[in-house]
Amino acid sequence: MEKVHSIEVEQTTSSRLAQVDFENLKFGHILSDHMLVAEYNNGAWQSVKVVPYGNIVMSPSSSFIHYGQSIFEGIKAYKQENGDVSIFRPDQNHERFNKSAARLEMPTVPAEIFMDGLKTLIDLDRDWVPPTKDASLYIRPFMFGTEAALGVHPSASYTFMIITSPVGSYYNKPLRLKVETHYTRAANGGVGFSKNAGNYALSLHPTKLAQEEGFDQLIWTDAEEHAYVEEAGTANLLFRIGDTLITPSSETILRGITRLSIMAIAEKWGLKTESRKVSVQELIDGIENGSVTEAFAAGTAATLTPIAEIGYQGKIYKLSDPATREFSNKVLQYLNDLRYGRIEDEFGWNL
Ligand code: PMP
Repeated sequence: MEKVHSIEVEQTTSSRLAQVDFENLKFGHILSDHMLVAEYNNGAWQSVKVVPYGNIVMSPSSSFIHYGQSIFEGIKAYKQENGDVSIFRPDQNHERFNKSAARLEMPTVPAEIFMDGLKTLIDLDRDWVPPTKDASLYIRPFMFGTEAALGVHPSASYTFMIITSPVGSYYNKPLRLKVETHYTRAANGGVGFSKNAGNYALSLHPTKLAQEEGFDQLIWTDAEEHAYVEEAGTANLLFRIGDTLITPSSETILRGITRLSIMAIAEKWGLKTESRKVSVQELIDGIENGSVTEAFAAGTAATLTPIAEIGYQGKIYKLSDPATREFSNKVLQYLNDLRYGRIEDEFGWNL
């Protein structure tokens, strides 16, 4: 691992904190006072700095603009009952970030930049972690190729940054999801498992079409047959079918940390869990015969959001009243209690 200089910190002289209304936070619109910036060139990380949040200057021929070498992560920090700030499982995001980097032929980011940088930044901006109910500080690490030269090849230089944004909840009502059977998010051998910018760009048009039909989001299906359920726009999907908690598993799906955590909690509570292929037909049949008792989306932004209705081939399939769903409600409460420090952190997930 490359040895970098220690993290330099330049504090802002004009904090914007006093202007923030923590009761009315629009997701991602308010950015905290500071940001982390690290530069990579000549085969090594050269510098790591925390500086006041602000615009960055780049060349119009920067490679990521043209060829899409651009990856990111999403993490949350929570204000604990006792006033401390905890970050939820950032080590998992670090690992996933480096897998995304490797797939896009980008350099990995060592822990002394990603993890230590995160801690330095959050410590400096700790007053930006909202004290309000269900709110948190959303943390966005990202990296992009900056070589100023056209031509398709891996960039020779990269910038890694972290910015943060105080947020409330992302979805505030149960979801109406449409099973997508025409467009494809990811194919085997592709980049579905990575968190790269292109995966989100390609989702915008199909999602807009579904939203024009009154749906909130899509349920993506496999590229070959559109017969297997994959994930929703920015969240994984979990179903309780019979006595088992099931989540679709494939290299085309982002390996969500919220889902991973929920599956671990379910196992600890003695529920049967399975990560496996789930066909659209199994899901629809299960809704019709009552064996699908719970269905929800899970993600850092979405937390756990119940699915109310699923649209498939022009028909709407209604699920049970979210208020009556035993596991979903219990696990959401448990996750919140753990993240806000109201119960013991028995898994050691709060950093
Ligand atoms: N799938 C996609 C496509 C996502 O963007 C996200 C959000 N990162 C997730 C799933 C959920 O992942 P996590 O629980 O790690 O936020």
